Amino acid sequence: MDKHYYIVTYGCQMNVHESEKIAGILRGLGYEETKEEEKADIIVFNTCCIRENAENHAYGNIGALKKLKRARPELLIAVGGCMTQQEGAADRLRKKFPFVDIVFGTHNLEDLGRLIGLKSKKKKVVEIVEGKNSVDGEDNDISYRTSYPNAWVNIMYGCNNFCTYCIVPYVRGRERSRRPENILAEVNALLDSGYKEITLLGQNVNSYGNDAGGAFTFPSLLRDICKRKEKFRLRFMTSNPKDFGEDLIRAVAENEQICNLIHLPVQAGSDRILRLMNRKYTAAEYLKKVELLHKYIPDCQLTSDLMVGFPTETEEDFSETLRLVKEAGFSTAFTFVYSPRSGTKAAAMEGQIPDEVKKERIMRLVELVNAQTREKSAAYAGKTVEILCEDYDEKKGLYLGRDEYGRMGYFTSEADRVGEFVKLKIDETSGVSLFGTIVKP
Ligand code: SF4
Repeated sequence: MDKHYYIVTYGCQMNVHESEKIAGILRGLGYEETKEEEKADIIVFNTCCIRENAENHAYGNIGALKKLKRARPELLIAVGGCMTQQEGAADRLRKKFPFVDIVFGTHNLEDLGRLIGLKSKKKKVVEIVEGKNSVDGEDNDISYRTSYPNAWVNIMYGCNNFCTYCIVPYVRGRERSRRPENILAEVNALLDSGYKEITLLGQNVNSYGNDAGGAFTFPSLLRDICKRKEKFRLRFMTSNPKDFGEDLIRAVAENEQICNLIHLPVQAGSDRILRLMNRKYTAAEYLKKVELLHKYIPDCQLTSDLMVGFPTETEEDFSETLRLVKEAGFSTAFTFVYSPRSGTKAAAMEGQIPDEVKKERIMRLVELVNAQTREKSAAYAGKTVEILCEDYDEKKGLYLGRDEYGRMGYFTSEADRVGEFVKLKIDETSGVSLFGTIVKP
């Protein structure tokens, strides 16, 4: 009889990529994917704890499985990821949801197959390990990918920065860089098998190599990857502005494969708040880097992460964030309301901001960001852009793909274009979407 898996993923790109690893493990055990949880023999939750919302969402969805588990006791339910790695979280989870069979953390995802094996002998399997340092070798074997023609490649794990609001260093551990030769081998294999876009992932890619005494750096890795001369796109995330230096900007400028879209999370525009966040740069320093980027790469676009409602944030602090958004000219940004994460410094700070104030501020911020996004999109009308076709949207009856700057372009085509670079003349724009016609070569 066929066995099926169903994976629920929360959070960032790193988690999406790690769910590919989980899928690879399950396929190795003979499971096939199902899109309906009722048909699954195993349901895996790959959780996130960066914001309260994500956690509540996961709790709600795990709780909703109680009925299904009662009806089908042989169904396996596994919960892993950042939420379970927090101190005491595995115990809390077991008490709240006694029907969960397997609990694992961020450091032992690759052990999932063994844990499933153990479950056949034990009632419950809970294994959370700390500080596992194996960054290369088997752990990075990705036997299954879900995002052709794009592929994600982890270059490092963990973070040393301890921004005061962030739980990541506690659940992902200290920075561990993969060896460049292993990353290059993975990237080369992907390009050889037809992938057209590679996104390098790390919590702070700019610190890549710092744990190896500077034997290799992020700009040197980018330059090595770009020795491949065929047409492909290279992206990376995430960059902490404090380590975003001139050599990296030069590496981006020198290599046409690297997209001229830089995601540089600023979080806030007030120096006082940035200091309390432990971000280690000022608004002026950030804007200097933006200026340098435009000097080397005149057509570069910038996106960012912005947070409102950090403890003690005043109206004046918030208006400095608005000012910076305009000055930096972000083409879009991810906007967040601060939510205290237990165990972080900011959660214990005085001056937590009331929810109504946070809500009102985020609305004003979103309005500004959306206006900037619309303005940038409108400028596309009548222009020709190159997109990498990623998929076919059945509902719309259109092919779709992104341009270098991450804007989604839609078009019609008789032939299947997935995996091809296509030139589109943009007829119409709507929000962040572009609608165009193929330009014949
Ligand atoms: S750089 Fe700061 S925000 Fe980013 S993962 Fe590290 S601690 Fe969290």
